[in-house]
Amino acid sequence: MFVAGDSQKQAQNGLILGSVSATHEVLNQSPPLDGYNLYTSDPVLDESVAREGGKASRDRLVEFGELTGSAEYYRWGFDANRNDPLLVTHDRFGNRVDRVDFHPSWHSLMETAVANGNHSLPWEQNPPEGAHVVRAAFTYMSGQIESGHNCPISMTYSVIPALQTTPQVAHDWVPGIVSHQYDPSFRPAPEKKGLLIGMGMTEKQGGSDVRANTTTAVPLNGGGVGSEYAITGHKWFTSAPMCDAFLVLAQAPGGLSCFLMPRWTREGGLNAFHIQRLKDKLGNRSNASSEVEFDGARGVMVGDEGRGVPTIIEMVNGTRLDCVIGSAALMRQAVSQAAWHVAHRSAFGSKLIEKPLMRNVIADLETETEAATLMMARLAGAFDRAAVDPAEAAMKRIALPIAKYWVTKRTSEVVREALECFGGNGYVEESMMPRLYRESPLNAIWEGSGNVIALDVLRAAGRSPDSLDMFLTEIDQASGIDARLDASINTAKRALHDATDLEFEARRVVESMATAWAGALLARHGEPAVFEAFAISRLDERHGALYGTLPAGANVETLLERALPR
Ligand SMILES: Cc1cc2nc3c(=O)[nH]c(=O)nc-3n(C[C@H](O)[C@H](O)[C@H](O)COP(=O)(O)OP(=O)(O)OC[C@H]3O[C@@H](n4cnc5c(N)ncnc54)[C@H](O)[C@@H]3O)c2cc1C
Repeated sequence: MFVAGDSQKQAQNGLILGSVSATHEVLNQSPPLDGYNLYTSDPVLDESVAREGGKASRDRLVEFGELTGSAEYYRWGFDANRNDPLLVTHDRFGNRVDRVDFHPSWHSLMETAVANGNHSLPWEQNPPEGAHVVRAAFTYMSGQIESGHNCPISMTYSVIPALQTTPQVAHDWVPGIVSHQYDPSFRPAPEKKGLLIGMGMTEKQGGSDVRANTTTAVPLNGGGVGSEYAITGHKWFTSAPMCDAFLVLAQAPGGLSCFLMPRWTREGGLNAFHIQRLKDKLGNRSNASSEVEFDGARGVMVGDEGRGVPTIIEMVNGTRLDCVIGSAALMRQAVSQAAWHVAHRSAFGSKLIEKPLMRNVIADLETETEAATLMMARLAGAFDRAAVDPAEAAMKRIALPIAKYWVTKRTSEVVREALECFGGNGYVEESMMPRLYRESPLNAIWEGSGNVIALDVLRAAGRSPDSLDMFLTEIDQASGIDARLDASINTAKRALHDATDLEFEARRVVESMATAWAGALLARHGEPAVFEAFAISRLDERHGALYGTLPAGANVETLLERALPR
């Protein structure tokens, strides 16, 4: 509702955006949020990157923050999502071409990501210190403005550990993958300046249960690691089908195995990788996700025969980290947008941000977002240190599914509540909020849906007890700081033992672990006002079922300052 008198104030503040139209003045609309630095306006990100080892790259991150917050970058995000990718199955003469065409803005987003090494930083010859953390920060910033293009970027980043299981394949492909040149041309890999990689696991009859895959692989030259197979079958979901090759699962004579399937054969012809159609998706519209069929397509075995799942899990670990990053990014952008809107919009005589109940909503959303960002950064730090520190490798094993479960599933409600802060304007595409909202459930679905991931936490605890020990030791480091946190840590410690039916109670168990972990991170590393808001609501269990239910006593002023982009 607009209240008379605001018009003059807003004119003074320069907030009247439109000129007088035929019938009315355009009043009390918030200006668009762009032209700010996504890095320097995000203190929890900046502090987390420094703490987790990425400090030396600060200048690069500040520069990227400026770029991703620019009006042009926002425009790329809108355009790439307004103009769906187009599948071209055949040329005019009837020959199969199996190509997807994209809007130029998609290519601008991809080119920027590749030029900055978002797909490759940790695997380069001279990676920056804390390369996974630095890359996480890059991806978190780009993902705030456009999520779809981070799908092929993520798969390309994640594939390297799987390829490294097979030295010849790594030798042939890794140099092209770590190139900083984006080359969207559709040609055989040896002719290209830069390569991107996708993944095909999910089939019609099963995605979580990949052992039910029916696609078969027949050896062409005796078989074995690094040799070529003819692969016949399908994949029900294969995103970014314009990638240069795909890590796919298929049943070889020795069991489910992993293969690298290029779009072009060694002989230079089109591989028998046929795109049937593109998925008509809820969100993630800029990114093409397809159904594909393999008609004796060529693929090279990666990892040992019959060890397809452990091999491709090397890749899935990376994409799961990116689900956490992508969700934390959606939360951050949604809260930034909401805080910006309510700081400029008035109702009932004052700015919305001055209304106590709106202050509660934004402060509560900020609390959730900062907890997610701390988890994301801690996890990315474990990725950096896992190779040289067994304790960090153990932490990574269990912290990854805990964060994937928790952060991705908290996102939709955060975004929905942020959208509502706009009132009706949040329901309109131009606000960006519908796009963020449609994107918000996705990271919880792909790369292992919620139940599967909760069960993976139990698997990690059961099969790698050192990972559980490491996790509990870490949260214990925050013991003694706050009695409410101590109680939560004790609950998390007992959760696995207290459950009478572990599988049935898996979500409850993982929730208690995630809450204690978030509390411990905030207590040790967070802004005190954020920890206090978390403690009086989530740890004290005085939070309602929805956001905006912080009990009185939270230092809301500080939370609002941190939520509002500068
Ligand atoms: C936009 C998009 C893009 C995608 N891109 C790709 C891609 O590029 N490559 C690829 O391989 N896949 C891709 N996927 C597929 C995605 O990874 C799968 O959809 C996901 O892994 C779930 O598999 P499913 O759809 O077969 O569901 P199902 O396996 O049938 O699972 C359905 C539900 O049952 C639950 N469930 C499963 N097992 C259990 C259990 N034991 N106990 C309790 N609950 C259980 C799951 O958590 C889920 O909620 C994509 C999906 C989407 C939406």
